[in-house]
Amino acid sequence: MAGSRPCHVCAVPRRISRSLTWNPEGTITETRDPEHRMILADVEGINQLFGNIENLIGISIQNMLTESKARATREFTRKLLRGWKRQVVRRAGLGLVIKRMGGLARSFGYGDLEVLHVDWRNNRIEWRLRDPYSVPLMCGDLRGATEAVKDVVGTVEAEPEGENTYIVRGRLSPPPSGMEERLTAPAARVKRGDITYRRCPDCGVPLRVSGFAWDPDCGIIRDGRTGARYAFIGPASIQAVFDELASELGESIPEAVVEAQRMRVASLDFEPWRGFALEKFRDLLGVMGFGNLVSLESSPDRFTARIENAALPLVIAGTAAGALEAFTGRRATTEWTVTPDGDLELQVTA
Ligand SMILES: [Zn+2]
Repeated sequence: MAGSRPCHVCAVPRRISRSLTWNPEGTITETRDPEHRMILADVEGINQLFGNIENLIGISIQNMLTESKARATREFTRKLLRGWKRQVVRRAGLGLVIKRMGGLARSFGYGDLEVLHVDWRNNRIEWRLRDPYSVPLMCGDLRGATEAVKDVVGTVEAEPEGENTYIVRGRLSPPPSGMEERLTAPAARVKRGDITYRRCPDCGVPLRVSGFAWDPDCGIIRDGRTGARYAFIGPASIQAVFDELASELGESIPEAVVEAQRMRVASLDFEPWRGFALEKFRDLLGVMGFGNLVSLESSPDRFTARIENAALPLVIAGTAAGALEAFTGRRATTEWTVTPDGDLELQVTA
């Protein structure tokens, strides 16, 4: 497929350079929909984070993740369809739409996707997923995309088929709960930034992105150095789940999210990060779409940082605490504030 062809200079797929924009504010946005942010997230990390949150709070968040993701993907797909000429969609049929969506999903690192069975008369559809980046989030993607294409409301259910393979069955029915309307992503206000990336002279993507390797057939993106799997994920749908949990279960939720991420990160190896300069951290955070690191002060057992346009601030706070713990071998305490204008102020002490 044309979209999976790589740039001849940096080897990043053309579909990525066409779909996503890396901005000087430390954000990644959909080129077609600049209000829709994306982050390049570590797949194992995000799944461990969800698992740790469930263990800490004692309830499953799988359905909430699917609901929230369905909503985000439905909106995204509606905009995508508006961008394509309606006549083209009508003439080429829904098969093409599904094919294109599948291609985009593979470029974003979501795994491989096969349509097994379509019965529009009875409003049923069945997919096979191979190596999905997240089962609940991918179920949300499939549901949201189908709802946008067919202009209906549906449910999806995943069933394991084999190792890393799932069958997902989609059916139309009334919305499953009143939760959906509350899972609204907060409006993003973005502060201007001045990060200048070294960019590919041909496709314009920051050159650091070419450190990732794409397998366009399997839908897998890996860090070329560590082999860790990554995917482009919309942070708003995940933040909406954190907000929903906090409104239902109370003020202990933000602490639990930070703790869940600290647990995950404290076990990782941060040795290569030693001696990293501010500019390098700033670059890294921005390339991943997590925001603009405008200040960082550090001593051997403590650091304070300010990040503008922070995506998933609780995850950043947990990452910082876990990283300092991995450095010093001592449990870190974290204080964080998200200012009304969206800055994350962070102080971590070992
Ligand atoms: Zn390029």
